[in-house]
Amino acid sequence: MEKQEANSKLLQARKMYGRLLLFPLPAQGHINPMLQLANILYSKGFNITIIHTSFNFPNKSNYPHFTFEAIPEESLTGFPTRQGSVTKIVLLNKVCFDPFRDCVKRLLSNSSADDRIFCLITDALLYFTKDVADLLKLPRIVLRTSSLSAFHVYYLYPILLQKGYLSVKDSNSEAPVSEAEPLKVKDIPQTYQIEGEDLGMMIAEMMTGTKAASAILWNTFEELEQSVLPTIQQNFPIPSFTIGPFHKYFTASASSLLEQDKTAISWLDMQAPLSVLYVSFGSLAAIDKTEFFEMAWALANSKQKFLWVVRPGVIRGSEWLEPFPDGLQEAVSERGHIVKWAPQQEVLAHPATACFWSHCGWNSTLESICEGVPIICSPSFGDQPTNARYVEAVWKVGLVLENGIKREEIERAIRRVMIDQEGKEMRMRMSCLKKKVNLCLMEGGSSYKSLEGLVNFILSL
Ligand code: UDP
Repeated sequence: MEKQEANSKLLQARKMYGRLLLFPLPAQGHINPMLQLANILYSKGFNITIIHTSFNFPNKSNYPHFTFEAIPEESLTGFPTRQGSVTKIVLLNKVCFDPFRDCVKRLLSNSSADDRIFCLITDALLYFTKDVADLLKLPRIVLRTSSLSAFHVYYLYPILLQKGYLSVKDSNSEAPVSEAEPLKVKDIPQTYQIEGEDLGMMIAEMMTGTKAASAILWNTFEELEQSVLPTIQQNFPIPSFTIGPFHKYFTASASSLLEQDKTAISWLDMQAPLSVLYVSFGSLAAIDKTEFFEMAWALANSKQKFLWVVRPGVIRGSEWLEPFPDGLQEAVSERGHIVKWAPQQEVLAHPATACFWSHCGWNSTLESICEGVPIICSPSFGDQPTNARYVEAVWKVGLVLENGIKREEIERAIRRVMIDQEGKEMRMRMSCLKKKVNLCLMEGGSSYKSLEGLVNFILSL
């Protein structure tokens, strides 16, 4: 409630400058930060137009202060929603070019002097927008929604390829990647093997598109990723603004594509402080039935309370919970509460939540850091293995399940984080990071200053 009031004050106290066009990648983990950024920039005095695809888009009525422009549905007909993520992104970059160009062209020609369009802000993965912006002579800023560290690993992709890391037979190799410490060979995402050709192309295009941008925005904060920031600034010598964590200004609830089940909170209200393990693998990661059983048995055997998000479709080949074998459901329901989708930020901020078993998407990782909740990491693809390795080896605020999803290892990890002294130490380090987050957002803090710099930069365009 307090947060909502503070948000509405922020929105009311705004100046009036001109307009920004924002274009998110249509996936939950990308929509959330882009819409949060939109609210931040609106509160700073910019009018906002969101350009979006007709699929995967949040409820517009949660954003009455924005203007929305949809890319015509017919231009995306036949877009394969079931392809692998990388292939989908590559295709999206092809099919959106014409309708997006037409849309921006129309918006530019309809804009007036007192509401002039300063620039386009697009997800870095929507690299085709570079050519549209060049064509229409519109400055373009990119938002990269991953961590700086994960972006750096993508930057190293050609070197990793050349050195043979991407064709390693043993995908569980513990060998270090000296070019990207503290990563191990097994942290190089498997996607590299599965969608290698498309991935290589997507990364190369993203890098070219980012280098050519007027500036880069990051949903992170300087103190968290100090070790890699100078390298990125050297490799991308354009203005770079670390203004996160975005969700500390505006929550992700308004841009949720799925309905958040509030019973998660009423159930947590009945639990003792620091007694609950929260389990969620985000909006895209999927597991097979065997992994689902291993998870369920581990949770039942751990003897800890748990709140488990089982997203419809997360178990490959199943609608929802139908693979539960007899007997297991009872064992699980004694100690746990299962929902399809949770108000995650509220869950992580709840006093009952002790630990987050996560796939380590960047939003989830940041949200956990901001609430001081240690993480058990089950990364699967993309930036997740890098985030997980940083959680364990750099920030030392959690641990990685090194052998996939195996019940004994999970039970041990739950004990280590929720009961043992080791877990208490992780929580203390998390509390230090949480304090740093609060400081970086205060007047004079690193993200605060960076945001001021961004506003001035946009006004100079
Ligand atoms: N999320 C949520 N409810 C859930 C699970 C996730 O609201 O039950 C939100 C979460 O707060 C985060 C986003 O969905 O903002 C997931 O983004 P992330 O980068 O962690 O993972 P992705 O879904 O992109 O893999």
